[in-house]
Parts: sequence; C-alpha cells; structure tokens
Amino acid sequence: MSSQSSTRDKILISACLMGRPVRYDGRAKPLHHVLIEQWQAEGRLVIHCPEVAAGFSTPRLPAEIEGGRGGAAVLAEAARILDKSGADVTAQFRYGAELALAKAQASDCRFALLTDGSPSCGTSFIYAGAFDGETRPDRGVTAALLEANGIRVFPQSGIETLAALLDR
Ligand code: SF4
Repeated sequence: MSSQSSTRDKILISACLMGRPVRYDGRAKPLHHVLIEQWQAEGRLVIHCPEVAAGFSTPRLPAEIEGGRGGAAVLAEAARILDKSGADVTAQFRYGAELALAKAQASDCRFALLTDGSPSCGTSFIYAGAFDGETRPDRGVTAALLEANGIRVFPQSGIETLAALLDR
C-alpha cells in the first residue's frame, strides 16, 4: 500500500451525509464522525448527490424501485423506479447513476460511502417499492452501477470498515 499523500485513496460520498440539504424531503442526513473530518482535511472526499446532479428538484416526491427489486435490476431494464405519484422516474435515476460514476472515475475514487436506504445511494438496504416503510437488502441504482464498475461501496454504517482499506 502506498503512503504518499498524492496517491491517497479518494472516496465519493453522498452529499446528504456531508450535511447538504439535498434529500427528497429537503433535509440533510449528516454523518458526524471523526473520520469524516479527517478525510475532508486530507482531501479525500468527493461530495456528490446523484439525484440533484440528474436535475431533480429539492424537495421532491420520494421514489422507490418497484416490485421488490434492486439497482442491478434497474440497470438491466428489468425494474422501474416510480415516485409516490406513480410517475416513472427510471431514466432520470439512471442518468444520475451515470453522472455519479463519471464523477467517481474522473476523481479516481476507488471507494464510495453512500446513504443507506436511498433508491440511488442505498448500499445495504433499500425500500421495497410499496411506500409502506418495508425494506429489503439490496443496492440502489447508483450504488449498483458504481459496484459494477469496480468501485467498492459502503453504507454510512460501514465507515470504519472502509477506513481499514484506505491507503494511509
Ligand atoms: Fe443523499 Fe444520495 Fe439521496 Fe442525493 S441521491 S439525497 S446523495 S441519498
């Protein structure tokens, strides 16, 4: 493992974890952890919101992947993402995933730390598609696309697992 600061691993991080009020409900989901402060000071963090990048407004209607499917199924065009009104927002979510991948690749991110539960950023669980609070273990569409392209994804609860993998 290299210890040169110029080659420090970069981490794509969900903007809402960094305190930016970009979630569907107009709120942030700040992750208060000493590692966040450390990584920011080290210049490791690439802050990004796939949904805002894709042009969604804030606040916006919540959206879920239909039929108890996950992000990989969306990428395979085997599942759609619907907002709570029933509108099909699949294309915009996929566009957001592609922009996140482009950002991660342009910034040499090998890792991503993402907000769990989101149809974009969910990494260990997502909501099951019926807007009833039920969850299932799966990835959102951005997390799935990043992973498919060799970027290791972690939920916010996995921050210390991620820390153990970083170049120092
Ligand atoms: Fe946060 Fe990701 Fe949702 Fe943006 S798309 S608000 S970064 S969870």
